[in-house]
Amino acid sequence: MKAVGYIRVSTDEQAKRLSPEVQEELIIDYGSRSGYEVLNVFRDIGVSGSISLRIRPGFQQLLDFCLRNNVKVVIALSLDRLTREPDDLDYIAELIQLHDMKFITIYEGEITLEKISRTETRFKTYFDKEYRAFARERTFTIMHASKKLRFGIGKLSQIVKTDDEFTQLINKIINDFKSGKAIYKIAHETGLTEKQIKFILWIFDLWTVNPSKCPRCGSGKIERDKEYRGFIRCRHCGFVYPLTKTTWDKMLQSESDRLLLNKLYEPYIVKLIEIRQTVINSTLGGGHHSITQHLEKT
Ligand SMILES: [Zn+2]
Repeated sequence: MKAVGYIRVSTDEQAKRLSPEVQEELIIDYGSRSGYEVLNVFRDIGVSGSISLRIRPGFQQLLDFCLRNNVKVVIALSLDRLTREPDDLDYIAELIQLHDMKFITIYEGEITLEKISRTETRFKTYFDKEYRAFARERTFTIMHASKKLRFGIGKLSQIVKTDDEFTQLINKIINDFKSGKAIYKIAHETGLTEKQIKFILWIFDLWTVNPSKCPRCGSGKIERDKEYRGFIRCRHCGFVYPLTKTTWDKMLQSESDRLLLNKLYEPYIVKLIEIRQTVINSTLGGGHHSITQHLEKT
């Protein structure tokens, strides 16, 4: 399916990490993985997110190109690249209704009409100045820690504001899954993709993945890691994971292993590994005890 990319960078962001080149690379990469042929990428450079889409030169060129060439899909890195103004959501809704267009962001997924109306409150929170600053900072922290952005993890930083909220979200995902809720429903309710939900469930041993594929990105390019024995490395996304996940639980017990975890993973994955330990302890009852015993034996 034909698509176009949209990139926006404001003046104060230019020095930071979301360079137009990085955004373009991510959009094209996302397109090729999701079956979209990105014909053209339009840019608004030095344009603040509070400037209406209606008057942005790059976005208006994009629209013109789409209407002339019957292109219906627009891909951007995140919703805040498209806009930081609630009024613009109405404009996006209008374009969806009038021209049958589809707006997809790598972080938040498709910006559907339903999403625009149903989650108005959440969008308002999202546009709240303070939260915006937080989301941005957190996204940068995560981006800095991760060499590649293939998981679209920025999304998490927009859904949860604090570590506690993150823990609650993960617990909800686990409990919903255990009570039999369908993955697509959990994905829909949390705003994450099914793939991400499965990855999270995999961390908690609740979802089995094909052992010849990377649990994070699904690539078959996995190999035994040369640097860390007992670990597998994905050559596609760079994810490194132990042969058995109990290795992670053990690593949390040691100060130097903890440092290694921070070196290997983005903060959100380290957090997931920490939550994993508490979940396993509470589920197994004597789990903590047996892990300790196991450590004593080894
Ligand atoms: Zn991978």
